[in-house]
Amino acid sequence: MPSVALEEVLRDVRRALEDPALQEGLRRAYTGAERRVPEILAEHPEILELARRVEEAKRRVLEDLDRYIEMAVESLKGVGAEPHFAGTAEEAREIVAGIVGSGKVVVMSKSMVAAEIGLREHLESLGNEVWETDLGELLIQLQGSKPMHTIAPAIHLTREEAARLVSEKLGVKLDGEKIEEIVAVVRRYLRDKFVRADVGISGANALAADTGAFVLVENEGNIRLVTGLPPLHIAVVGVDKIVPTLTDAFHVAMVQAAYASLYPPTYLNVIAGPSSTADIEKKRVYGAHGPPKLHVVLVDNGRKKAAKKPLLAEQLRCIRCGRCQLECPVWRLTANHWGGPVYGGPMGVGWTAVTLGEESGAELAHLCLGCARCDEVCPVRIPLSRIIRWLKKLYAESHGL
Ligand code: SF4
Repeated sequence: MPSVALEEVLRDVRRALEDPALQEGLRRAYTGAERRVPEILAEHPEILELARRVEEAKRRVLEDLDRYIEMAVESLKGVGAEPHFAGTAEEAREIVAGIVGSGKVVVMSKSMVAAEIGLREHLESLGNEVWETDLGELLIQLQGSKPMHTIAPAIHLTREEAARLVSEKLGVKLDGEKIEEIVAVVRRYLRDKFVRADVGISGANALAADTGAFVLVENEGNIRLVTGLPPLHIAVVGVDKIVPTLTDAFHVAMVQAAYASLYPPTYLNVIAGPSSTADIEKKRVYGAHGPPKLHVVLVDNGRKKAAKKPLLAEQLRCIRCGRCQLECPVWRLTANHWGGPVYGGPMGVGWTAVTLGEESGAELAHLCLGCARCDEVCPVRIPLSRIIRWLKKLYAESHGL
């Protein structure tokens, strides 16, 4: 995976500031988004209580991460799933590649950890036909760029740019640039991929150590197809997603949906093992209508080491709601061009330090203005501005300043 250098960050940021299409896309997407979350919280104050419970549950796991990983592995085996553990991004890629092989059709649902380990590109390099099925993530795939927001990867694209990408790259004719038309065309185009897919790859919002069940929250309905239609399902899950119980996992999904301003979520998927039936003579047979095989790849990639660091450990509570990004004055102008090669904005700086090393996070820290608005909106009270200040100090020390 790439490391980060300050000159490149500055170049990227300047390009973002001088890109009128990106600035217009961000301006259109941002209007009103800042008001929606407070409205949801005012209508559903119980979410604030759930957020406190999520914070506590995540703290408990991070204090004893190895034990919770072991519990999750045993629970996954108990429900008939096949667990794997990957220490690094490379190991994670190799494990998934070993299961998928080559010459397959693969459908993926949006997963930041899959982007973190460069999974799609790796599977494509092995001769697989790989399709992102989340609309925003598909647009990113067609554009050959990177996700620009945790929840809304194509937040920076205008409808005109989305229409151009879909018609040029998918070779389909569009009547105009109406968003409804773009969505309908992509829906028709991807149907065939879902049906032909040999493998479905998803992430997870939370994985319950007590049961081996994991939860995925969504609005499009693509996750249901990715995880339900192909004969093989692989879930790639960062070990930070482990929570003690299935109830905690539901709480994560509810809080994440609310802070992503998508509440109530349209779909909440729970997966505990491969599809099975015991309808005939009470004999359990795997592979009824869903996949008969489920692999779960648990990814460390710096998380266990970070869990032992007093301040950086706090970043691991992140539930990827993207709220801090929308609140950040720097992110509003640059999107994920600032914050790291995969993650972006205030949370991106911390995640880059976790996954690529503190030196890489430190290179990014300087563009932070220190306003601390991100701290105030984070549902799990991650002290993002303190993490970034600490990284600035590391940079100064390591450069003899
Ligand atoms: S750091 Fe907090 S606000 Fe930002 S994405 Fe993570 S949980 Fe959400």
